[in-house]
Amino acid sequence: MTRFIFITGGVVSSLGKGLASAALGALLQSRGYKVRLRKLDPYLNVDPGTMSPYQHGEVYVTDDGAETDLDLGHYERFTAVPARRTDNVTSGRIYQTVIARERRGDYLGGTVQVIPHVTDAIKEFVLEGTGDADFALIEIGGTVGDIESLPFLEAIRQLSNELGRARSMFVHLTLIPYVAASGELKTKPTQHSVKELRSIGIQPDVLLVRSDRPIPTAERDKISLFCNVPKKAVIQGLDVEFIYEVPIRYHEEGLDDQVLAAFGIDDAPEPDLTRWVEIVERLRAPEGEVKIAIVGKYTGLHDAYKSLVEALTHGGIANNVRVDLEWHDSEIFEGEESAHHLEDVNGILVPGGFGERGSEGKISAVTFAREHRVPYFGICFGMQMAVIEGARNLAGLPGAGSTEFGPCQDPVVGLLTEWTREGVREVRTSNSHLGGTMRLGAYDCDLVKGSRVHDIYECDTISERHRHRYEVNINYRERLEEAGLVFSGLSPDQTLPEIVEMPDHPWFLGVQFHPELKSKPFEPHPLFASFIKAAVEQSRLV
Ligand code: GLN
Repeated sequence: MTRFIFITGGVVSSLGKGLASAALGALLQSRGYKVRLRKLDPYLNVDPGTMSPYQHGEVYVTDDGAETDLDLGHYERFTAVPARRTDNVTSGRIYQTVIARERRGDYLGGTVQVIPHVTDAIKEFVLEGTGDADFALIEIGGTVGDIESLPFLEAIRQLSNELGRARSMFVHLTLIPYVAASGELKTKPTQHSVKELRSIGIQPDVLLVRSDRPIPTAERDKISLFCNVPKKAVIQGLDVEFIYEVPIRYHEEGLDDQVLAAFGIDDAPEPDLTRWVEIVERLRAPEGEVKIAIVGKYTGLHDAYKSLVEALTHGGIANNVRVDLEWHDSEIFEGEESAHHLEDVNGILVPGGFGERGSEGKISAVTFAREHRVPYFGICFGMQMAVIEGARNLAGLPGAGSTEFGPCQDPVVGLLTEWTREGVREVRTSNSHLGGTMRLGAYDCDLVKGSRVHDIYECDTISERHRHRYEVNINYRERLEEAGLVFSGLSPDQTLPEIVEMPDHPWFLGVQFHPELKSKPFEPHPLFASFIKAAVEQSRLV
């Protein structure tokens, strides 16, 4: 029997609702419970796949090939429960479902309305496939008071009524701002936010209150009184240095105890937080540091590379070093004499990307890494750029390029229109819809024995997540391998190059997939652990 925890946010956005949900999931797990985390997003896009990273940050891809909200990345990093397609839904998807039903005539001529049809569709989604989870944590995106989130709030209100108090509860995350002029922490915005929730019929059981300084007892009492929440259930959330501290701090404040108390559970095992304590200790007292350059397009918005930044941090945890990131807009490498930007770095990473703008700069960054023997890690687009660089500068194909940028003399990277997934052929064309037409989700890859990746993964076959339209062209394999760029990972049918590496280089790897999506702080991804290790070795040379 799954219990449901609904998590809403108020006052302002960006208070760390996703992190709070992930941390609560981790805390419940540490007390022996099975959890599943879900996100309801009120915007009208069907999924975030077609949204600009500037608008939405990273698109997090699940094993089953869904393009989802980046909060699902937090959920996985904190709980290691693989997210699924059914763990993220948007208003767009809900309306698409309802309208498809209407067109099919499923409503038998009835008037289709937000209540009950849209709210029913939301409820179905929340309840679907929670399986054997003891707790389903349902995060509602946006801020209470937004027009778009109303149907979601109404749906969870109804659901809580149907499930009963023993199976549902509400956590509300707010902010109490400090007003410097009067030297006070102000509780009014929180009061208003809870008032708004209560007007919809939702009484929060636990309030998570973000603040930049400790909340004095008088203010907590006031919040408790005005918001109708027990004093103990007013939990303060102070800013932390490392996100992996959040479960520890929230436990100290009594979050998990209060959540369990709301369900009437008072005999839960004590949590084992060793995992988090160890991670934070390592982050706090690293034995050294390395500098990694990220050469990309959206370098002004680090949320666009959320999982990547975390995976690099995990690589640091594995090697006991701090990883300092230097962000470079690849376009700066398109001018003359730009290489000096990379002179003092211990590793260069070109992440996933789309489109021609900035690509020549990325190719120059690859040249720099190759010639100066600096560890190079190319992810997805970063692998494709490494292949173009190798083709042009090592294999004597000056006209090498990607058909993503238009026709070229040697399409070493090209659009693949058919490929196999679990024995089934999938087909796309160059004018397929933009949404959901990429090779998405988990695919197996066979590793070549004796290669560097085989050593790193210590196994013959791996499964990693994909999100791309173009593929390295297998027909250039011989030419590139003769020139020193070896294809060390291939799809099981041996047609799609998944990994390239340069044996005659301290550490030069390109991967067509996104390994960052599967890295965890307590289980750093082997490729990131190895890349940072190579960067540590490189730092000893300079
Ligand atoms: N633009 C490239 C493609 O579609 C790479 C995508 C990516 O880096 N995620 O294949």
